[in-house]
Amino acid sequence: MIRSIEEMRAFQKEHYLNKKTTGFVPTMGALHTGHLSLMKQAKQENDLGIASIFVNPTQFSPGEDYDRYPRQVEEDMKLLKSIDMDILFHPSNIEEIYNPNRLCHIEPKAFNEIYEGKIRPEFIRGVATIVCKLLNIILPTQSYFGQKDISQCILIRQMIQDLNMDYTKIKIIETLRAEDGLALSSRNVYLTKEERMKADILYKALMKGKLFCEKNSLRKEIPVEEVKEMIEKELLTEKLVSKIEYISIASHQNMKEVTKVDAKNQGAVISSAIRVGNVRLIDNLLVGKAHDDILRN
Ligand code: AMP
Repeated sequence: MIRSIEEMRAFQKEHYLNKKTTGFVPTMGALHTGHLSLMKQAKQENDLGIASIFVNPTQFSPGEDYDRYPRQVEEDMKLLKSIDMDILFHPSNIEEIYNPNRLCHIEPKAFNEIYEGKIRPEFIRGVATIVCKLLNIILPTQSYFGQKDISQCILIRQMIQDLNMDYTKIKIIETLRAEDGLALSSRNVYLTKEERMKADILYKALMKGKLFCEKNSLRKEIPVEEVKEMIEKELLTEKLVSKIEYISIASHQNMKEVTKVDAKNQGAVISSAIRVGNVRLIDNLLVGKAHDDILRN
């Protein structure tokens, strides 16, 4: 395990000089098989696999779960060992990453208007800034992100272009799910047994919307209201759904909301955030052309 930026840089410099390629997977820890699927691919496609664990305080809004976010580095280390990850970068403290006198951060303004940005105002700036910092520390050949956090993926792709960080190639990996369809997430541990049994409703509702769009792809322009209503209706069949934060149908180019779905020629991202009891769940499915475009890599 490497705990300082200085040591991380020295490690990378040595491998860079030896022309070794590196695949990097940034995480907040509490690893599960979803994370491991990214890491396995990073290992497979590069000479060395590097993971990071850092619960990034700047991407949590006040009142969110920063303090109680699961932290279990020793168990995580065992998992990393089981798949032969070469290096874990686990900064020793927050100050290692954030200088208290810092002036600069990344502000992807337009993304504050998308749903995840509107509802979690700190999130977009926090994620863009930490990923930028980690990439600049590690300088990986390829970087791996999960479709599970689709707005993050599209944001990071754009940031890489905008800020000339194309020393690294971004790879987006399909969401790994439990048998019932629930997307794996470190936050699933917050669900009670009963909530966990019903939490697959989010996947089921999104799937209903996706299949409707794809089956009707000859209809070319399906109004999004029709699809959103269908998803909402399905979500409301489950009593444990205490809140629907949003249902979004957006372009996979920039996450801006669309008014019509043309699965075959345009594609779309259908995403939603709901609360099951008190637990916030997010998920998304890629419709038609968006699936190939995003996961083609
Ligand atoms: P996190 O630790 O939640 O910040 O996630 C670290 C990385 O793992 C992000 O790129 C996530 O999108 C990805 N990830 C999280 N859950 C899954 C999943 N179920 N399937 C695939 N990737 C995931």
